[in-house]
Amino acid sequence: MEMFIPDSLLKTLQEIGEIGGTDAYLVGGSVRDLILKRETHDIDIVVEGDAISVAENVKTYWHGEIQVHHQFGTATVTSANPTYPKIDFVTARCETYQQPATLPNVEEGTLTDDLLRRDFSINALAMRINSDDFGDVIDITGGIEDLKTGTIRVLHDDSYFDDPTRIFRAFRYAGRYSFRINETDSDLIREALPFISDLSGERIRNELDRILLEDNATEIVRMLSEFDVFEVIFKDWRITPDLINGLKTAEDSIKWSSIHLKDDTLLKKNIRWMALFGLDESGCLPTYHIEALCYRLVLDHQLHRIAGHQKETVCEEESATVLRGVFEKVGYGLADNTTFDFINGKWCLVDSGNKSTYIYDEGDIYKIQTPLATYSGLKNVLSKIVEDTRDSEIYHLLREFPLETLALGCTDGNLSELHRECINNFLLRQRSVKPIITGDDLIQWGEEPGEHFQKILHYLFAAQLDGRISCKQDAFTIFQEYKQ
Ligand code: ATP
Repeated sequence: MEMFIPDSLLKTLQEIGEIGGTDAYLVGGSVRDLILKRETHDIDIVVEGDAISVAENVKTYWHGEIQVHHQFGTATVTSANPTYPKIDFVTARCETYQQPATLPNVEEGTLTDDLLRRDFSINALAMRINSDDFGDVIDITGGIEDLKTGTIRVLHDDSYFDDPTRIFRAFRYAGRYSFRINETDSDLIREALPFISDLSGERIRNELDRILLEDNATEIVRMLSEFDVFEVIFKDWRITPDLINGLKTAEDSIKWSSIHLKDDTLLKKNIRWMALFGLDESGCLPTYHIEALCYRLVLDHQLHRIAGHQKETVCEEESATVLRGVFEKVGYGLADNTTFDFINGKWCLVDSGNKSTYIYDEGDIYKIQTPLATYSGLKNVLSKIVEDTRDSEIYHLLREFPLETLALGCTDGNLSELHRECINNFLLRQRSVKPIITGDDLIQWGEEPGEHFQKILHYLFAAQLDGRISCKQDAFTIFQEYKQ
């Protein structure tokens, strides 16, 4: 089997092979990518037997570091040599599913068990790394043939039922490699679609996130929508041609940013999330519901707590009225058409009037902060900018927004030319303007330090942004006017 193994990886694998011998194998995505002669990132080694002890020995040999998860029989080793990739060691395992869409029972197994528990034939390949057989590929499910013909195929008919995240994964690989989903698999996917609803929000969100990281995300979303996957996630979520165009705008924005914002790090997937949710002008898309659904179960770290514990216990029947009262009491008045859904033991409130989504969970109120919320927030703020709005005002309106939101705005044809120009000017010029005057200058001008400093500096910086100050002398004149 002809493969492309870059020199640095070759050395790494040979050294692991010296230590792990015939018990250790390279597995999964990296074997697939080496055969496809593509770059590979995650290096997974499966060990028949004790993966942790092989990992410990590799760590000692590399003078590196190790993180061990005894509970899962796994370990991650980082070499002291920074050119070596991080390596994950896993004990070979056998998995059995009791019910669709739940996590499997796991036991120690052989390499064959480990390959047969995998999602697709193209991911069920292993490569020997011991010195005698280095590079031999073990293919018990026809993965090499599927790589040749560009086919995505699961290993047994129950696979998509057992784990419906594989539906998302199938389209992700098909889109990434321009592969075709085998006909039998298409039928199996259609049958297993309803089981997507049994997945937790977090797992769905995670799969969508991974899709939106792909360069070919637009095509993958289009394929998923052809199979009505989005409607299963949320009943009114249809990916219309408009949304596909929205995703194209996201790609324009990503391209634009890679040229103009070279020194910044932008999260491509957030730009695509915004495009998928936030560009709909028709108002038909139940964006806030979808947001709530996709984000709500990532509760603790995703949600921003806005109000502490309220004493009321809200039971399902008397919900809406009581909850309305609770929200009013803490200063969050809800619009009349707010919807209240009790999902997985938590109340989800979608206030489309005020463009806000809240979660009420055992007395705590959380406001959901999502890419969509920021994009609609941007549109809201832009409506305040007219032809003669001062630069300083524009600066203060735009500086709160994440770069991804502004980058999308820059290329969104639905925004006016004036607004796009303002964003462009902010990103490329205004945001890097440094104040000419600092607190030290104020002290030199005889001002006593104190709380009022912030106000004066703010005033002078605004004057600078508006072009009234271009040197310290100008600033001093304006400072004296301010003091009178
Ligand atoms: P990528 O190239 O996108 O990182 P990958 O192939 O490395 O993808 P991971 O999600 O990192 O995929 O998983 C590593 C391997 O674990 C896969 O190649 C596959 O063999 C197996 N795997 C991952 N998720 C599943 C799943 N849901 N069901 C069965 N096997 C899976």
